[in-house]
Amino acid sequence: MRSFRSAPLPEPKPWTAPLPDAAPPADMAIYQLPTGTYENRAALAYRGGSFGDLRKFAATAVLVQHPAGDLLIDAGFGKGVEEHIAAMPSYRRSPHELGATVHEQLRAKNYDMSRLRGVVITHAHWDHVSGLDELDVPIWMNPAESRYVERAKDAVVFRDIARTREIHGYTFDGPPYLGFSGSHDVHGDGSIVIVEAGGHTDGSVVVFVNLPDGRRFAFIGDLTWQLEGVTLRAERPKMLRMLADVQPERVRDGLLNVIALADRVHVVPAHDVRAYEPIPEWAGSRGGV
Ligand SMILES: [Zn+2]
Repeated sequence: MRSFRSAPLPEPKPWTAPLPDAAPPADMAIYQLPTGTYENRAALAYRGGSFGDLRKFAATAVLVQHPAGDLLIDAGFGKGVEEHIAAMPSYRRSPHELGATVHEQLRAKNYDMSRLRGVVITHAHWDHVSGLDELDVPIWMNPAESRYVERAKDAVVFRDIARTREIHGYTFDGPPYLGFSGSHDVHGDGSIVIVEAGGHTDGSVVVFVNLPDGRRFAFIGDLTWQLEGVTLRAERPKMLRMLADVQPERVRDGLLNVIALADRVHVVPAHDVRAYEPIPEWAGSRGGV
Protein backbone atom coordinates (compact mmCIF):
# COMPACT_ATOMS: atom_id res chain seq x y z
CA MET A 1 0.00 0.00 0.00
CA ARG A 2 2.76 2.37 0.96
CA SER A 3 4.48 2.16 -2.42
CA PHE A 4 1.14 2.61 -4.17
CA ARG A 5 0.32 5.72 -2.17
CA SER A 6 3.64 7.37 -2.85
CA ALA A 7 3.95 6.31 -6.51
CA PRO A 8 5.08 9.25 -8.62
CA LEU A 9 2.99 10.71 -11.40
CA PRO A 10 3.82 9.25 -14.82
CA GLU A 11 6.80 11.06 -16.33
CA PRO A 12 5.65 13.53 -18.99
CA LYS A 13 7.63 13.94 -22.20
CA PRO A 14 10.18 16.71 -21.61
CA TRP A 15 9.62 19.93 -23.54
CA THR A 16 12.12 19.74 -26.40
CA ALA A 17 10.74 22.41 -28.74
CA PRO A 18 12.33 25.87 -28.65
CA LEU A 19 11.22 28.05 -25.75
CA PRO A 20 8.99 31.00 -26.72
CA ASP A 21 10.71 34.20 -27.86
CA ALA A 22 11.50 36.75 -25.21
CA ALA A 23 13.24 40.11 -25.57
CA PRO A 24 13.56 41.39 -22.01
CA PRO A 25 15.19 44.81 -21.62
CA ALA A 26 18.73 44.84 -20.18
CA ASP A 27 17.68 46.62 -17.00
CA MET A 28 14.98 44.14 -16.05
CA ALA A 29 15.59 42.37 -12.71
CA ILE A 30 13.87 40.25 -10.08
CA TYR A 31 14.15 40.23 -6.30
CA GLN A 32 12.57 38.17 -3.57
CA LEU A 33 10.91 39.75 -0.56
CA PRO A 34 10.43 37.09 2.11
CA THR A 35 7.82 38.17 4.65
CA GLY A 36 7.71 35.11 6.89
CA THR A 37 7.01 31.42 7.02
CA TYR A 38 4.43 29.05 8.43
CA GLU A 39 4.85 25.44 9.44
CA ASN A 40 3.56 22.42 7.64
CA ARG A 41 4.46 18.75 7.56
CA ALA A 42 5.97 17.19 4.45
CA ALA A 43 3.44 14.35 4.80
CA LEU A 44 0.67 16.89 4.16
CA ALA A 45 2.55 18.66 1.37
CA TYR A 46 3.34 15.85 -1.06
CA ARG A 47 2.76 12.12 -1.44
CA GLY A 48 5.46 10.16 0.31
CA GLY A 49 6.51 13.08 2.52
CA SER A 50 7.34 12.24 6.12
CA PHE A 51 5.19 13.29 9.04
CA GLY A 52 8.28 14.11 11.11
CA ASP A 53 9.66 16.37 8.37
CA LEU A 54 8.54 19.82 9.46
CA ARG A 55 8.74 22.33 6.63
CA LYS A 56 8.71 26.10 6.80
CA PHE A 57 6.39 27.28 4.06
CA ALA A 58 7.53 30.53 2.45
CA ALA A 59 5.30 33.58 2.25
CA THR A 60 7.45 35.45 -0.22
CA ALA A 61 6.67 38.12 -2.78
CA VAL A 62 8.73 38.65 -5.94
CA LEU A 63 9.43 42.09 -7.35
CA VAL A 64 9.89 42.19 -11.12
CA GLN A 65 11.47 45.45 -12.18
CA HIS A 66 10.93 46.49 -15.77
CA PRO A 67 11.37 49.90 -17.43
CA ALA A 68 7.68 49.84 -18.41
CA GLY A 69 6.69 49.50 -14.76
CA ASP A 70 7.31 47.08 -11.91
CA LEU A 71 5.06 44.27 -10.73
CA LEU A 72 4.92 42.12 -7.66
CA ILE A 73 4.04 38.46 -7.88
CA ASP A 74 1.98 37.75 -4.74
CA ALA A 75 2.21 39.90 -1.63
CA GLY A 76 3.33 37.73 1.30
CA PHE A 77 2.23 38.48 4.86
CA GLY A 78 0.89 41.97 5.57
CA LYS A 79 0.44 44.14 8.61
CA GLY A 80 -2.85 42.41 9.44
CA VAL A 81 -1.53 38.88 9.10
CA GLU A 82 -2.66 37.79 12.58
CA GLU A 83 -6.25 38.81 11.77
CA HIS A 84 -5.96 37.15 8.38
CA ILE A 85 -4.85 33.89 10.00
CA ALA A 86 -7.64 34.18 12.59
CA ALA A 87 -10.18 34.47 9.76
CA MET A 88 -9.22 30.99 8.53
CA PRO A 89 -10.74 27.76 9.86
CA SER A 90 -8.64 26.36 12.73
CA TYR A 91 -7.28 23.44 10.71
CA ARG A 92 -5.64 25.92 8.35
CA ARG A 93 -3.86 27.84 11.10
CA SER A 94 -0.34 26.85 11.97
CA PRO A 95 2.67 28.26 13.82
CA HIS A 96 4.27 31.05 11.87
CA GLU A 97 7.19 33.45 11.96
CA LEU A 98 6.82 37.00 10.75
CA GLY A 99 9.40 39.18 9.05
CA ALA A 100 9.13 42.63 7.53
CA THR A 101 6.20 43.08 5.15
CA VAL A 102 6.69 43.88 1.48
CA HIS A 103 5.65 47.46 2.11
CA GLU A 104 8.12 47.82 4.98
CA GLN A 105 10.91 46.31 2.91
CA LEU A 106 10.26 48.61 -0.05
CA ARG A 107 9.93 51.69 2.14
CA ALA A 108 13.20 50.89 3.94
CA LYS A 109 15.13 51.64 0.74
CA ASN A 110 12.95 54.48 -0.48
CA TYR A 111 11.41 52.46 -3.27
CA ASP A 112 9.49 54.76 -5.60
CA MET A 113 5.95 53.38 -5.20
CA SER A 114 4.87 55.17 -8.38
CA ARG A 115 6.91 52.55 -10.28
CA LEU A 116 4.70 49.74 -8.99
CA ARG A 117 1.93 48.98 -11.50
CA GLY A 118 0.30 46.33 -9.40
CA VAL A 119 0.38 42.90 -7.82
CA VAL A 120 -0.19 39.83 -9.98
CA ILE A 121 -1.61 37.24 -7.63
CA THR A 122 -1.01 33.57 -8.42
CA HIS A 123 -4.38 33.05 -6.67
CA ALA A 124 -6.50 34.71 -4.01
CA HIS A 125 -5.73 32.61 -0.91
CA TRP A 126 -4.87 34.55 2.24
CA ASP A 127 -1.21 33.55 2.35
CA HIS A 128 -0.65 35.13 -1.07
CA VAL A 129 -2.70 38.30 -0.61
CA SER A 130 -2.28 39.27 3.06
CA GLY A 131 0.36 41.90 2.16
CA LEU A 132 -2.07 43.69 -0.16
CA ASP A 133 -3.43 45.32 2.99
CA GLU A 134 -0.56 47.82 2.87
CA LEU A 135 -0.15 48.06 -0.90
CA ASP A 136 -2.58 50.47 -2.46
CA VAL A 137 -1.91 49.40 -6.04
CA PRO A 138 -4.08 47.55 -8.55
CA ILE A 139 -4.57 43.81 -8.08
CA TRP A 140 -4.15 41.97 -11.37
CA MET A 141 -6.94 39.43 -11.81
CA ASN A 142 -8.30 37.25 -14.60
CA PRO A 143 -12.05 36.68 -15.03
CA ALA A 144 -12.08 33.15 -13.56
CA GLU A 145 -10.38 34.30 -10.36
CA SER A 146 -12.62 37.38 -10.16
CA ARG A 147 -15.65 35.08 -10.20
CA TYR A 148 -13.99 32.72 -7.72
CA VAL A 149 -13.40 35.40 -5.09
CA GLU A 150 -17.03 36.49 -5.15
CA ARG A 151 -18.20 33.30 -3.49
CA ALA A 152 -15.29 31.18 -2.25
CA LYS A 153 -15.08 30.68 1.52
CA ASP A 154 -11.30 30.72 1.38
CA ALA A 155 -11.31 34.15 -0.31
CA VAL A 156 -12.64 35.94 2.76
CA VAL A 157 -9.34 37.72 3.45
CA PHE A 158 -9.05 38.72 -0.18
CA ARG A 159 -12.60 40.12 -0.25
CA ASP A 160 -11.98 42.19 2.84
CA ILE A 161 -8.78 43.76 1.48
CA ALA A 162 -9.93 44.13 -2.12
CA ARG A 163 -12.99 46.20 -1.21
CA THR A 164 -10.73 49.24 -1.20
CA ARG A 165 -8.43 48.24 -4.05
CA GLU A 166 -8.55 48.77 -7.78
CA ILE A 167 -8.80 45.56 -9.79
CA HIS A 168 -6.82 45.47 -13.01
CA GLY A 169 -8.52 42.87 -15.19
CA TYR A 170 -6.56 40.95 -17.77
CA THR A 171 -7.52 38.09 -20.05
CA PHE A 172 -5.61 35.22 -21.59
CA ASP A 173 -5.66 36.92 -24.97
CA GLY A 174 -2.43 35.32 -26.17
CA PRO A 175 -1.60 31.93 -27.67
CA PRO A 176 -0.92 28.67 -25.82
CA TYR A 177 2.37 28.88 -23.95
CA LEU A 178 4.62 25.98 -22.94
CA GLY A 179 1.73 23.56 -22.70
CA PHE A 180 -0.73 25.95 -21.03
CA SER A 181 -3.85 26.85 -22.95
CA GLY A 182 -3.91 30.65 -22.77
CA SER A 183 -1.42 33.40 -22.06
CA HIS A 184 -1.08 37.10 -21.32
CA ASP A 185 2.16 38.82 -22.33
CA VAL A 186 2.28 41.69 -19.85
CA HIS A 187 4.75 44.02 -21.57
CA GLY A 188 4.48 42.63 -25.10
CA ASP A 189 8.17 41.66 -25.09
CA GLY A 190 7.84 38.12 -23.74
CA SER A 191 9.55 39.05 -20.47
CA ILE A 192 6.54 38.38 -18.22
CA VAL A 193 3.91 35.95 -19.42
CA ILE A 194 0.97 34.91 -17.26
CA VAL A 195 -0.70 31.60 -18.15
CA GLU A 196 -3.96 30.00 -17.17
CA ALA A 197 -3.35 27.16 -14.69
CA GLY A 198 -6.62 26.82 -12.79
CA GLY A 199 -7.64 24.03 -10.47
CA HIS A 200 -6.23 25.05 -7.08
CA THR A 201 -8.62 27.97 -7.36
CA ASP A 202 -10.60 28.59 -10.55
CA GLY A 203 -8.28 31.28 -11.87
CA SER A 204 -4.89 30.23 -10.50
CA VAL A 205 -1.99 31.17 -12.76
CA VAL A 206 1.65 30.49 -13.46
CA VAL A 207 3.83 33.54 -14.11
CA PHE A 208 6.81 33.04 -16.40
CA VAL A 209 9.59 35.60 -16.01
CA ASN A 210 12.31 35.64 -18.65
CA LEU A 211 15.41 37.63 -17.76
CA PRO A 212 17.94 39.40 -20.01
CA ASP A 213 20.71 37.00 -18.92
CA GLY A 214 18.69 34.13 -20.43
CA ARG A 215 17.41 32.65 -17.16
CA ARG A 216 13.76 31.68 -17.13
CA PHE A 217 11.62 31.32 -14.05
CA ALA A 218 8.17 29.84 -13.58
CA PHE A 219 6.33 31.06 -10.49
CA ILE A 220 3.81 28.28 -10.20
CA GLY A 221 1.80 29.36 -7.16
CA ASP A 222 0.40 26.31 -5.38
CA LEU A 223 0.45 23.76 -8.25
CA THR A 224 2.64 22.00 -5.73
CA TRP A 225 3.54 23.24 -2.25
CA GLN A 226 7.08 21.93 -2.24
CA LEU A 227 9.70 21.20 -4.90
CA GLU A 228 9.19 17.43 -4.48
CA GLY A 229 5.99 17.91 -6.47
CA VAL A 230 8.32 18.51 -9.41
CA THR A 231 11.53 16.63 -8.55
CA LEU A 232 9.78 13.46 -7.31
CA ARG A 233 6.60 14.02 -9.35
CA ALA A 234 4.79 13.74 -6.02
CA GLU A 235 1.51 15.62 -6.06
CA ARG A 236 -0.42 16.58 -2.94
CA PRO A 237 -1.72 13.62 -0.89
CA LYS A 238 -5.20 12.60 -1.99
CA MET A 239 -6.94 14.02 1.09
CA LEU A 240 -5.30 17.39 0.56
CA ARG A 241 -6.08 17.36 -3.16
CA MET A 242 -9.73 16.97 -2.21
CA LEU A 243 -9.56 19.65 0.48
CA ALA A 244 -7.30 22.24 -1.10
CA ASP A 245 -8.06 22.08 -4.82
CA VAL A 246 -11.35 22.99 -6.51
CA GLN A 247 -10.44 20.80 -9.49
CA PRO A 248 -7.65 18.38 -8.55
CA GLU A 249 -7.40 16.92 -12.07
CA ARG A 250 -6.59 20.34 -13.52
CA VAL A 251 -3.92 20.86 -10.87
CA ARG A 252 -2.36 17.55 -11.92
CA ASP A 253 -2.38 18.63 -15.58
CA GLY A 254 -0.71 21.91 -14.67
CA LEU A 255 1.88 20.18 -12.55
CA LEU A 256 2.69 17.74 -15.36
CA ASN A 257 3.19 20.71 -17.72
CA VAL A 258 5.63 22.21 -15.24
CA ILE A 259 7.47 18.91 -14.74
CA ALA A 260 8.00 18.71 -18.52
CA LEU A 261 9.72 22.12 -18.38
CA ALA A 262 11.78 21.62 -15.25
CA ASP A 263 15.10 20.98 -17.05
CA ARG A 264 14.86 24.29 -18.88
CA VAL A 265 12.99 26.64 -16.58
CA HIS A 266 13.68 27.30 -12.90
CA VAL A 267 10.46 26.30 -11.14
CA VAL A 268 9.39 28.19 -8.02
CA PRO A 269 6.52 26.70 -5.99
CA ALA A 270 5.25 29.65 -3.95
CA HIS A 271 5.84 28.00 -0.58
CA ASP A 272 9.22 26.33 -1.07
CA VAL A 273 11.94 28.47 0.53
CA ARG A 274 14.65 26.52 -1.35
CA ALA A 275 13.22 27.47 -4.73
CA TYR A 276 13.90 31.18 -4.12
CA GLU A 277 17.64 30.69 -3.48
CA PRO A 278 18.81 31.87 -6.94
CA ILE A 279 16.81 35.10 -6.58
CA PRO A 280 18.54 37.95 -4.73
CA GLU A 281 16.74 39.65 -1.89
CA TRP A 282 15.56 43.19 -2.46
CA ALA A 283 18.43 45.40 -1.37
CA GLY A 284 16.26 47.16 1.19
CA SER A 285 15.23 43.97 2.89
CA ARG A 286 15.65 43.83 6.64
CA GLY A 287 16.47 40.17 6.26
CA GLY A 288 13.03 38.61 6.49
CA VAL A 289 12.84 35.84 9.05
ZN1 LIG B 1 -0.66 29.08 -0.75
